[in-house]
Amino acid sequence: MALMTGNEYIESLRKLKTKVYIMGERVENFVDHPLVRPSINSVAMTYDLAHDPQYEDLITATSNLTGKKVNRFCHLHQSTEDLVKKVKMQRLLGQKTGSCFQRCVGMDAFNAIYSTTFETDKKYGTNYHENFKKYLIYVQENDLTIDGAMTDPKGDRALSPSEQKDPDMYVHIVEKREDGIVVRGAKAHQTGSINSHEHLIMPTIAMKEEDKAYAVAFAVPSDAEGVFMIYGRQSCDTRKLEKNADVDLGNKKFGGQEALVVFEDVFVPWDKVFLCEEYDFAGMMVERFAGYHRQSYGGCKVGVGDVLIGAAALAADYNGAAKASHIKDKLIEMTHLNETLFSCGIACSAEGSKTQAGNYYIDNLLANVCKQNVTRFPYEIVRLAEDIAGGLMVTMPSQADFDSPEIGGYCEKYFKGVDSVPTVDRMRILRLVENMALGAAAVGYRTESMHGAGSPQAQRIMIARQSNLEHKKALAKEIAGIK
Ligand code: SF4
Ligand code: FE
Repeated sequence: MALMTGNEYIESLRKLKTKVYIMGERVENFVDHPLVRPSINSVAMTYDLAHDPQYEDLITATSNLTGKKVNRFCHLHQSTEDLVKKVKMQRLLGQKTGSCFQRCVGMDAFNAIYSTTFETDKKYGTNYHENFKKYLIYVQENDLTIDGAMTDPKGDRALSPSEQKDPDMYVHIVEKREDGIVVRGAKAHQTGSINSHEHLIMPTIAMKEEDKAYAVAFAVPSDAEGVFMIYGRQSCDTRKLEKNADVDLGNKKFGGQEALVVFEDVFVPWDKVFLCEEYDFAGMMVERFAGYHRQSYGGCKVGVGDVLIGAAALAADYNGAAKASHIKDKLIEMTHLNETLFSCGIACSAEGSKTQAGNYYIDNLLANVCKQNVTRFPYEIVRLAEDIAGGLMVTMPSQADFDSPEIGGYCEKYFKGVDSVPTVDRMRILRLVENMALGAAAVGYRTESMHGAGSPQAQRIMIARQSNLEHKKALAKEIAGIK
């Protein structure tokens, strides 16, 4: 099958019998649900841009498995150039959607599982790598969106998976059969899970022998028997349910999506199992997926940052404040921070290297530095955007007030900024800043910058492991003349 268009992707979701709960209710038609549709539109953009000749080189690639043209979101990176293009593609998608476009988790899982299964097979003589290749060819040929799922609910953080009072706090194998395995548990905060065709499950932490039932990786369709999802709510989400919802949404068309994905005794055939009790490879899979996803943030968050910087600059224009030197300086600072994140994304890509399996991995130290900066800079960028926008971004009346025959005229009159700009445009841009700073898109821009791809401490552990202090001490001794 050729590359899907955005519309074909949306229609393909309708064929799935995905079991979804939203605000306490089972929803059959999640595709047209106002709380879900913006996130589907974001993923659809990853399909549409693949057909735009000006982005062909970024959004498509040649598969090393089939030699055919595939969407880069389904691609195994074949060079550092591929890694760089990945980050640039993510920046572009962030610019086009102003939100999380979700499809990266699958791409990062493909690349992590591809190399980890190769090394697992080498040690144990298993057949995971060949099976995974077959699976990925199926994904590429059908241009699927896959939820790369890592984060377990984790229960008591002081206890290992096997020590938890409730054994389901981490996804685990409950039965090994001749034809496959049966798994139970859940994955939390799953980005793009409801609008993915399939789920690719990985362990969430490094494991010891006693945790081996939890060392499991596998693929299942979204509508597999025993799988269901509970949609996560977002700040200001019910605005999407209001009549004629438009201006107050800030970003009317696009959004992100997270859900709790539950696996109630789900059967997985052996050819879809990519790790089963080889606990000493759980850590490798986790580290590689996390490394790729920390690189990803040097692209996606930068693209969304571009939109936010643009919105702040427009807010200044519409307020008549654009010429003030402190405004100009704040926009420079926002740009400096945003481009620093991009530099990290590019650097960890350019310094990548080939894995034993043949695909390319990022420089893991630099990817962790990238993500550590992402836990901070978007907060400062948001602070500056709010500073520039002014308090009206959170005190402005609703669209309904502006539309009211009785009071609309007063809203129009008193919220007017510079004469050349219609009041409604000023409202739109302030609502967009609100959306990204503390509304629905803040999930993807602000809090996700903190916790997505691992919370700050996870990166500090990785930075500590790779900081090579002994080498640095040796350098200092040499210069200081110490034997
Ligand atoms: Fe992609 Fe960024 Fe969303 Fe992760 S947070 S899925 S990298 S857009
Ligand atoms: Fe994320």
